[in-house]
Amino acid sequence: MTTLLEISGLTKQFGGLTAVDGVTFSMDKGEVVGLLGPNGSGKTTVLNMVSGLLPPTRGTVMLNGETLTGLSPNRIALKGVARTFQLVRILPSLSVLENVVAALAFGRRRLWGTVARDEALARLEQVGLADRADETAERLTYIDQKRMELARALAADPAVLLLDEWLAGLNPTELRIGIDLVASLGERGVTVLLVEHVMDAVRALCGRCVVMNAGKTIADGRTADVLADAEVVRAYLGA
Ligand code: ADP
Repeated sequence: MTTLLEISGLTKQFGGLTAVDGVTFSMDKGEVVGLLGPNGSGKTTVLNMVSGLLPPTRGTVMLNGETLTGLSPNRIALKGVARTFQLVRILPSLSVLENVVAALAFGRRRLWGTVARDEALARLEQVGLADRADETAERLTYIDQKRMELARALAADPAVLLLDEWLAGLNPTELRIGIDLVASLGERGVTVLLVEHVMDAVRALCGRCVVMNAGKTIADGRTADVLADAEVVRAYLGA
């Protein structure tokens, strides 16, 4: 396996608070890794630093041996890091297809016109939303908005996909669909970092998990081992 994403000593201070404290882990190509931890443990701040939305106080993020730290979010996206947000971000008055076409226009390959249209349809097909391509985005159900957001992220042809609680808020049927969808990305070789509280999803999708507590990494290993770890259980129970 080759290391794709390498996070070393990543640290973020907000005033006197060290929200992320020396986080170090790496991901191999095609891995689906869970990033777990109680609320406030620093998971979203890690994603924000990896995607360039926040500059780290210390530490580095490398993709394929190339340093991403210090680059703008746009440059980092162009290098191959895509993400979804906890609150779905869409262009509500545009059609589903236009939403994905817009992402393609600013993506790594900068596709336009009919090429972009065909590519957008392929991405919508991939997430099971091709039949809603002409629907206005704001009229979609919640899971379909999430599917569209995923299609937008995939339009950038990412090497690494950061999913921030992408499966939160789905009902059991939708959750099964969502899990299958993320699993299919892993099978296609997309490397996924999954911040997730839905443990069934973590067990089904992640071969490996990294667990954070109070900004620090407290476990990194096979999912079954990590979830049975006494310190991890204590962190989740807040004891
Ligand atoms: P998680 O995603 O694990 O819930 P976060 O990364 O959102 O945790 O937050 C980690 C800590 O950093 C929390 O204490 C949070 O209040 C704090 N924090 C997050 N973003 C900011 C910010 N922009 N300014 C100040 N404090 C922040």
